Amino acid sequence: MLSRNWDQRKAKYDFVVVGSGYGGAIAAARIATASFNPKPSVCILERGREWPVGSFPDEAVAAAREFRSGLNPLGLYELLVYQDVSVMKGNGLGGTSLVNANVPSGRTGRYLRPSGGRGR
Ligand SMILES: Cc1cc2nc3c(=O)[nH]c(=O)nc-3n(C[C@H](O)[C@H](O)[C@H](O)COP(=O)(O)OP(=O)(O)OC[C@H]3O[C@@H](n4cnc5c(N)ncnc54)[C@H](O)[C@@H]3O)c2cc1C
Repeated sequence: MLSRNWDQRKAKYDFVVVGSGYGGAIAAARIATASFNPKPSVCILERGREWPVGSFPDEAVAAAREFRSGLNPLGLYELLVYQDVSVMKGNGLGGTSLVNANVPSGRTGRYLRPSGGRGR
């Protein structure tokens, strides 16, 4: 496991990064490998759980159980629905990279057409 339990945290860190997705992980890595002297301590806070290799839900019913909600705050998938766009994201160590898979893609002219221009 890469993560540590909450009760194993230190009392103090030089840097605290919130979220372990592409943004948080790279920021933390850059800080940790920068040539600071002394080397800073870095803490990444992640609200989701770690998903060890082989633990992912691999069929529909198991995946459906892993939606994040008030009742399931550690759920892997989070669906945010807004008026114009909905966002599927990942919740866990690794952020949305955890769910960068199994996405059918198709051209939808409505969304790819530049505003005021002609779609291709
Ligand atoms: C289905 C899908 C497929 C994709 N495929 C690709 C691909 O093939 N290649 C590619 O480059 N990109 C892909 N992307 C896009 C890529 O995953 C995102 O751009 C990237 O993950 C965004 O990084 P981020 O750090 O901003 O956010 P995220 O990766 O979403 O990370 C945010 C993290 O912060 C945590 N968090 C949020 N709030 C808190 C809090 N208050 N306290 C603690 N933790 C918190 C979340 O749990 C999450 O782990 C895909 C996205 C999706 C949805």
